[in-house]
Amino acid sequence: MKRFLAALLAAAACGAAGAPPAVTLTHFRGGVYIAVDTFYAAENSVVYVGPESVTVVGATWTPETARLLAAEIRKVTAKPIREVVVPDYHPDRAGGSAYFRSIGAKVVSRRQTVELLKQRWDQAVREVRAGQASYPALAAALPDTVHEGDYELQGGRVRALYTGPAHTPDGIFVYFPEERVLYGNCILKEQLGNLDSADLVEYPRTLLKLKAMKLGYTAIIAGHFSPVHGPELLDRFLEMLAAHGRGAR
Ligand SMILES: [Zn+2]
Repeated sequence: MKRFLAALLAAAACGAAGAPPAVTLTHFRGGVYIAVDTFYAAENSVVYVGPESVTVVGATWTPETARLLAAEIRKVTAKPIREVVVPDYHPDRAGGSAYFRSIGAKVVSRRQTVELLKQRWDQAVREVRAGQASYPALAAALPDTVHEGDYELQGGRVRALYTGPAHTPDGIFVYFPEERVLYGNCILKEQLGNLDSADLVEYPRTLLKLKAMKLGYTAIIAGHFSPVHGPELLDRFLEMLAAHGRGAR
């Protein structure tokens, strides 16, 4: 009986925290869908279903999680997946690129992200594997569509914006003006998260530059932790950075 109880308790614990990892896709607003990928360190990406095609923002962790995401996309639309935006060089954003290329999608980023993928990818994968032994030793899959600066996709419905170094030197925000939704990438989230690649001097300036653009978004989708937030997430993140700075001094 005691053993049975122990097994029952173990099963209950497993159900709470140990649900098997998965990729889910949920409609948010207009063309914007939120992808939640709970493999490795859970991350949130965005899928934009436009008039004729689909743009994925964030390639997810691996070609396998990308394949799972593509299967979720097929459940909501038959439109082709035309491109995947790689919003920074870290494995949670770039790891699935090879899968998207294999199905004929363009892999899109800014030049700076391409350069960082060349310089730092292998080290970034080693760091992930040090904490998550099951993460595969993936080779870098470089973007094939490279922009020197900010760019637009889907006829202006998807706007890639860079305002400076933050969580990484290269991370972008993606704004969806018709839906008034901002994707905060790894830059904006409810906790500071991993700051190993962050520029702590520029991070607040980068956020203030974004704020000064007065884009008019009414929701922010965070790249980690809970996905849906109001615009006040930016000020909350600035406060967390300031508190972190005071603690470090
Ligand atoms: Zn991240």
